[in-house]
Amino acid sequence: MKHRVYVALGSNLGDRWGYLSRAVERMRAFMTVDAVSRVYETAPWGYADQPDFLNMVLSGETDLSPRGLLAALKEVERDLGRRPTVRYGPRVIDLDILFYDRVCTSTPELTIPHPRLHERAFVLVPLADIAPDLIHPCLGRRVRDLLEMLPTEDVRPAVASP
Ligand code: AMP
Repeated sequence: MKHRVYVALGSNLGDRWGYLSRAVERMRAFMTVDAVSRVYETAPWGYADQPDFLNMVLSGETDLSPRGLLAALKEVERDLGRRPTVRYGPRVIDLDILFYDRVCTSTPELTIPHPRLHERAFVLVPLADIAPDLIHPCLGRRVRDLLEMLPTEDVRPAVASP
């Protein structure tokens, strides 16, 4: 059975554009990708002494369960060379499940929708590119309305390096 999913991607080390595009290509092995946001450059969050992030969001469909999808995304992170770091610290690639169908669930391993997505302009700005009217299934608010409550000046469209 197909499940509709939204995934956030971030990178702030090394060839950030390359890591994002390689992650998208890897993800096509276990999900279709039907919409991709623009890429944004974002000041780091939580742990400031690190390079800026590139952030984007995509949507698509998968047969995997929520836990299966999380495991598949973690494998992509590992394959692309992510190493353990401090919480919110620098990473070559970070993949988060934002939404999975209209599921609201929380376990120690996995919370869906992502528990901090409504606080993060660097997630909501790209999400609003592809799904402004999507309703957060637990908060009952549209993405565009959640975004209106946040400052967005630190989230700028990224310019690809030559
Ligand atoms: P991170 O450092 O952002 O990669 O997240 C670390 C951990 O957050 C992961 O290993 C997951 O077990 C957990 N987690 C909880 N909810 C989610 C979610 N919606 N998407 C991705 N990871 C999640």
